[in-house]
Amino acid sequence: MRYEYGQEDLDRFWSKVDKNSENECWNWVAGKSKGYGMFSAKGVNFGAHRFSYCVSNNNYVDNNLLVLHSCDNPSCVNPNHLRQGTAKENIQDAIDRNRFPTGEKSNLNKVSELEVEEIRKLYSQGETLLALSRKFKIGRTQITRIVEGKSWRHDGGKAPAKRKSRKVLKEPEIKEIRRLYDIGIKSQLMLSKMFSCSRETIRRIVNRIRWKDVQ
Ligand SMILES: [Zn+2]
Repeated sequence: MRYEYGQEDLDRFWSKVDKNSENECWNWVAGKSKGYGMFSAKGVNFGAHRFSYCVSNNNYVDNNLLVLHSCDNPSCVNPNHLRQGTAKENIQDAIDRNRFPTGEKSNLNKVSELEVEEIRKLYSQGETLLALSRKFKIGRTQITRIVEGKSWRHDGGKAPAKRKSRKVLKEPEIKEIRRLYDIGIKSQLMLSKMFSCSRETIRRIVNRIRWKDVQ
């Protein structure tokens, strides 16, 4: 997809980057989440690396793919260190770099322990079984077994309960969600991804079932 941004957004973006030579990492020096730079333009939040990839590739980024770092440095936004790839490739990268030693390097056609971990994590963050099944190219039944802890029981057992790990939204986020909804971003799925919460939470917010007192 293409994103909307103007020259002023671009200038603002690059002012937050510690630019180095072509082959070095260019670190994001502003706000970060889990090590990844965060940037917003026209009311939409981006991973800074994703935005960098997009603006450096004719303003195009495939939303079904991740933007991966060849340098393994989450805060780097050097376009020369970024490429698009699948969730599976991301995991393979991590294994190749021994970021997650698993002893399963030769067994990637089957679901790896690392994938099991990732699947359970994403599920606990509100990702649906269908989306996980597509992302990891694994059947729904197997995904269900993984998140319910019926398969891979030795590896952490059940996925953490959804409710417990759900992020607590604060007033500014509630307002932002309603504002975005009001200006036409009606996709509850998109909003839930942007704010790392469930679609049900978004539904309750925009219908003012919850946080009624927030204006
Ligand atoms: Zn880098």
